[in-house]
Amino acid sequence: MYKFIFEDSIISKGEKGKLVIISGPSGSGKTSICKILTKNPKIKQSVSYTTRKPRDGERDGIEYCFIEKSEFEKLINENKFIEYAEYCGYLYGTSVSTIKEAIDNEEILILAIDVKGALQIMDKMPEAISIFINAPDDETLKLRMKNRLTEDDAVIEKRFIVAREEMGYSKHYDYCIVNDRLDDAVKEIEGILNL
Ligand code: 5GP
Repeated sequence: MYKFIFEDSIISKGEKGKLVIISGPSGSGKTSICKILTKNPKIKQSVSYTTRKPRDGERDGIEYCFIEKSEFEKLINENKFIEYAEYCGYLYGTSVSTIKEAIDNEEILILAIDVKGALQIMDKMPEAISIFINAPDDETLKLRMKNRLTEDDAVIEKRFIVAREEMGYSKHYDYCIVNDRLDDAVKEIEGILNL
């Protein structure tokens, strides 16, 4: 039985749905892993809200819902987020309705969120499965960040410092995976999710 504690109410649901938190620093390969996992029609990924500007190729409502800070703050005040956090100067949040819809439809829903948001979900939804993804070592992590070429050096440096902090939280997760080879990491997660 799934129990979701939210705003003083507890929503209980059957066994089929799964909420899967996936965290990991930029460069851990988390986005690539989620892309492969969501090729499986049983798996959906939550579309978060963010105040960050879209990168090249990112579409509103697909990768993220891109909104202004004032709009984000309005949604916070209206309790529309089940969790939200600031990451490198921008706000990111998961809407309550996304989660409720996934529970109702008994879906496997991936939340690819940062460690601060993940801790909030773990607290509110103890049955959620949490997975932390890491790169094999710091050099690989930095190289992957640089190879993305979408951020300038100052942003990469900032994200690297945040990455080191995030790694300290990996002990709070149910599973920690080292993403050396993408296919192996995906297989490992599929195993965890009994797919
Ligand atoms: P990026 O800007 O690289 O897309 O994401 C930066 C960080 O924000 C990543 O660690 C990503 O997982 C996290 N993130 C994305 N969506 C959410 C969300 O809804 N809530 C929280 N707490 N973090 C998020």
